Amino acid sequence: MTDQPHVALPTVGDRVPTTGIKEWAFGARTLLDGFFRKMTILNMEKDGVELLMKRLSRLELAIIEGTSEASARAAFIDWVEENDGGGWTYYLTKKAEVDRQEAEAQAKRRHEMIIASAREEAVGLRKKYPGGKGATVGTVIVGLADTTTGKTYTGTSGAYVHADKRHSVMEALLVGVPQVEDWPVNACAEVDAMNKLLIAREITKKSEIQVETLYFHAETWNGKAGKWQARSACKNCDVWLKKIGACRI
Ligand SMILES: [Zn+2]
Repeated sequence: MTDQPHVALPTVGDRVPTTGIKEWAFGARTLLDGFFRKMTILNMEKDGVELLMKRLSRLELAIIEGTSEASARAAFIDWVEENDGGGWTYYLTKKAEVDRQEAEAQAKRRHEMIIASAREEAVGLRKKYPGGKGATVGTVIVGLADTTTGKTYTGTSGAYVHADKRHSVMEALLVGVPQVEDWPVNACAEVDAMNKLLIAREITKKSEIQVETLYFHAETWNGKAGKWQARSACKNCDVWLKKIGACRI
């Protein structure tokens, strides 16, 4: 038999806060109530849950009636330790489940917000050039969002060619990219933004970039219409974007 490390299980007291007891009890009771309503007589935990809900209700009432938080809390903990009929374990299980779902939803929202920031960056920058391309900005403006770091970058067409530093990974990504558009493959705003990311993250090789972590949004100047508009694809860039699993939004 192997030695198991001794891990102390959390006590009831560990799970009951020392302040804000009434609010905590209300929250726990509300959570249980949501599940209780869906239970049938066949549900073995039903009685235990109902009992715990009643005890939580009593805890809230005790506070309202002037019992100190410390003694109301102590009485509740004693009750759970001595009289619980399975409701407490059920509560802990469901609370963990709800917390996990909430954490996942929050992570998803954060992820979506980062992706959306690619568009916000591009639109924010192009708004500075209401008259379109000129000496400081090219025909295309790009926003790049990195879900690994949460950071964003911008790029403009033509800037990479004149950049102080052209990252070796960017140069490598462009190798073998056929020119299928009217402009050279290194002229794009996407290349400028990606170059900035590679420098900022001190990337040393392509494999350090995970798929579906980079999101590009491009805005292009429509000379005829005299306005910026979203552009879905550049067939030059799509080749190297594919190499790193980057996406367009
Ligand atoms: Zn391009």
